[in-house]
Amino acid sequence: MTNPPDISASMSPRRVAVLPEHIANKIAAGEVIQRPESVVKELLENALDAGAHSIEVIIKDGGKELVQITDDGTGMDEQDAVASFLRHATSKIVSFEDLEVIRTYGFRGEALASIAAVSQVTMKTRRAGDDVATVVKLAGEEPQTVSRDARGPGTSVTVQNLFFNVPARRKFLKTTNTEFRHIHDVVQRTALAHPGLAFTFVSDGETVFRLKPSTIDQRIVDLFGQRTVESLLPVEEQTDFLTVRGFIGKPAFGQKTRLSQFLYLNGRIISSRSIGFAVGTAYEHLLINGTYPFYLLFLEIDPHRIDVNVHPSKMEVKFDDEQGVNRFVSALVRKTLGAAGAVPAMSFTEGYPGSGDLRLGFTVRQHAWGSGDSQGIGWTLPERSRVDALTGEIFPPPAGQMPPGSQDLLAFPAATPFLPGREGEMPLSEPPQLLWQLHNKYILSQIRHGVMIVDQHVAHERILYEKALERFANGLRTSQQLLFPVTVQLPAGDYAILDDIFPHVEGLGFDLKRFGKNTVVIEGVPPDVKAGHEQSILEEILALYKEYQRESPGEAQDLVAKSFSCKSAIKAGDPLTEAEMRSLIDQLFGTTMPYVCPHGRPIVLRISTEELDRRFGRR
Ligand code: ADP
Ligand code: MG
Repeated sequence: MTNPPDISASMSPRRVAVLPEHIANKIAAGEVIQRPESVVKELLENALDAGAHSIEVIIKDGGKELVQITDDGTGMDEQDAVASFLRHATSKIVSFEDLEVIRTYGFRGEALASIAAVSQVTMKTRRAGDDVATVVKLAGEEPQTVSRDARGPGTSVTVQNLFFNVPARRKFLKTTNTEFRHIHDVVQRTALAHPGLAFTFVSDGETVFRLKPSTIDQRIVDLFGQRTVESLLPVEEQTDFLTVRGFIGKPAFGQKTRLSQFLYLNGRIISSRSIGFAVGTAYEHLLINGTYPFYLLFLEIDPHRIDVNVHPSKMEVKFDDEQGVNRFVSALVRKTLGAAGAVPAMSFTEGYPGSGDLRLGFTVRQHAWGSGDSQGIGWTLPERSRVDALTGEIFPPPAGQMPPGSQDLLAFPAATPFLPGREGEMPLSEPPQLLWQLHNKYILSQIRHGVMIVDQHVAHERILYEKALERFANGLRTSQQLLFPVTVQLPAGDYAILDDIFPHVEGLGFDLKRFGKNTVVIEGVPPDVKAGHEQSILEEILALYKEYQRESPGEAQDLVAKSFSCKSAIKAGDPLTEAEMRSLIDQLFGTTMPYVCPHGRPIVLRISTEELDRRFGRR
């Protein structure tokens, strides 16, 4: 019998070694625990997973000195309490398949191990059925100690001196204030997602908040105050694939930072740039420059269609159909804003010192609109007039009184899309209110709680813009054939542009024939184009399209719609009959976004009776 060859001699002296547990944990900790906030987040999640009804968060020095989280959840027996600090110790996943449908917050089983690797941890825990609580103490590489103590059912985890043994990380921590803000943010976000649970948050001995179990509305009041609640609009939409509910801020409730954007997916706090962007675009130009919308949105998606495990702190999420989710959210926000009919109320420029200078400069006042006025803006046209506008029958334009070209105002109502479900949004009151035209530019009317001023040009622009989009979307173009086709010779550059956007221009309702070099023949036009203006409008569309494209490149079709609506709309200076004004107003409130023109200018301003009373010293 021969000995097996001795191979060790030929091997290099280096061996593959398994890292000692405490070093592995320290490395893993770098991923999971970035700052005191991460500790708070992990411990909060554990408390939630343990079915707590009441959670207390105590921190000192921005969490750098102390984070202590106490819950009244299930608690653990001694064996589990000790095991919970082992890496990949988790009670939440038993099989790989489970990973797909995780409903609990934690599942990686790394948090406690990681925290213990870089701080001094004490866990005290007791199950309801046990007599005594188990106390487990760990600190970095030091051996853990286990002892007994008394406490009520539940668990408290005390984390002291985070990164005490990783000086580089400790140095990296920010000021107490900054760390506090991060922790405050995560506690607040958690409390918003669980209004039914009690939360107490104490920082450096001061109670930051103490929240009783309540409804989501009340929780918002408790955290942000009554005024915030009044500045929000509820949203809710459910499909097989996706459910979204929550609140969005009225546009006047613009926020200085993005901190008031709360997003959750299947109950988890997430951040998503793309959803944030989708919400932002729905506000279009409704927000005052430099402000961000408030939103609190809870998304629910079949867990099979998302991947929550893309980031160790589980903040970022991948969707199967990211685009679909974004579109859905954007449409929902847009719909909600449109339906709410929030109009910028305005006050006279604040602070003019009784100089007798009744400046007509208006400022949009923040937080002023719609609050408490659930009926919306109170536009006072009777329902009848909307229907009339649709048929064009009740307000026939008195012959001879029509301003040149304004016929189209009455000619197009039949084609105006009144979106389903918008009827209720036309806030009505009897009897029909008078309409006045100011300086052939603005339409003025009494509304339920004040006075409303509409800019006629941008109002018409909004109407035409939406009609154009509608035509693009449904392919139902209407074209008015010209008795005498118009031949247009374009500069070569413009002709090239026209070539690029030809299908879109046709989609609007233009019938064009290319005719030799740089020449087109206009054989038909959209019904909104005034007779005699066929050529100039086409040229203006091209010119404006060029300009828009330079300033803010966008989708060609959208730019065409914007150019067309701007150029075909009635202008400031066009006199209107009352019937035309009514028609215009009716159609305006049939659009999805009656308050802002496609370029972001306001269409409607409101001065409340209160504001007038105040100005006249009535109160
Ligand atoms: P994970 O949450 O990913 O499972 P953790 O390291 O955060 O991993 O926790 C490990 C285990 O310890 C959990 O699975 C849970 O069983 C237990 N545990 C942690 N915190 C608590 C708590 N507050 N109450 C009851 N059990 C807890
Ligand atoms: Mg956990």
